[in-house]
Amino acid sequence: MNFESLHKKIIQTKNAKLFEIGRSFFSQSIYCLFVGNPNGEKILLSAGIHAREYISSLFLLKLAYSMVEEKKLGIYFLPLLNPDGVRIALDGISWLEKKEQERLTKINKGNDFSLWKANGRGVDLNVNFDALWGQGKFNIRQPSSQNYIGPFANSEPETQSILRFLKELNLEISLSFHSKGEVIYYGFEKYGKNLKNDKKIAKALSKGNGYKIVKTKNSAGGLSDWINLKLKKSAFTIELGEESLTHPIGEKYLNGIYEKNKNCIQIISKFL
Ligand SMILES: [Zn+2]
Repeated sequence: MNFESLHKKIIQTKNAKLFEIGRSFFSQSIYCLFVGNPNGEKILLSAGIHAREYISSLFLLKLAYSMVEEKKLGIYFLPLLNPDGVRIALDGISWLEKKEQERLTKINKGNDFSLWKANGRGVDLNVNFDALWGQGKFNIRQPSSQNYIGPFANSEPETQSILRFLKELNLEISLSFHSKGEVIYYGFEKYGKNLKNDKKIAKALSKGNGYKIVKTKNSAGGLSDWINLKLKKSAFTIELGEESLTHPIGEKYLNGIYEKNKNCIQIISKFL
């Protein structure tokens, strides 16, 4: 797969409403696919925030296709939150200007970008959000292929686009898909009162996909962290694919991942 074929899968999705929520550092579209009832309760599902984890984008698109007949819920799919990073992980950097190629090669310490996680600036978007920003265990403070928190909270155009979208959405539950390890993370540290209910939801999700549930720890600045902390809403991070698989997880594992997780929307909808 290359970036072009992934992009086509997003923009050619039938029977879903496609719109742009913002642009990336290199000015690529960040898309939302909406299916269901605009007046229904709102669920957000997102993927592709970590570049090399683009199997999550393929999973989410497959899930979106399966939901186009939905009548009750309002389901927002953000299949590719980090288009620059995913394009770098899939295609390398030849599509960029020479100056940018040199900068990224230096950050990456080499020419193989297949394990790149960050955005086009070298910021890890899932530690860039204003949710105890800079307090995560694995945070680092200079541009890197992973774990760099950015110069300040919400510094990245991708982060800002997602936040602008979220602040208007009035969502009830969010699932953020990553890879790998078959884990469901719930309950950010400073997120008190809904914790019991969220553990119940996590358990129900676990019954569906067989993944283990783990209370979030050592995390900060993540999308789910931000939704827990700032919106006080249920948000889960789901790590797709067995731990024994290597990054980036290949397309041949997509069907297996999909089969385990295809009921996740039905499961969370019982808690609305
Ligand atoms: Zn990830």
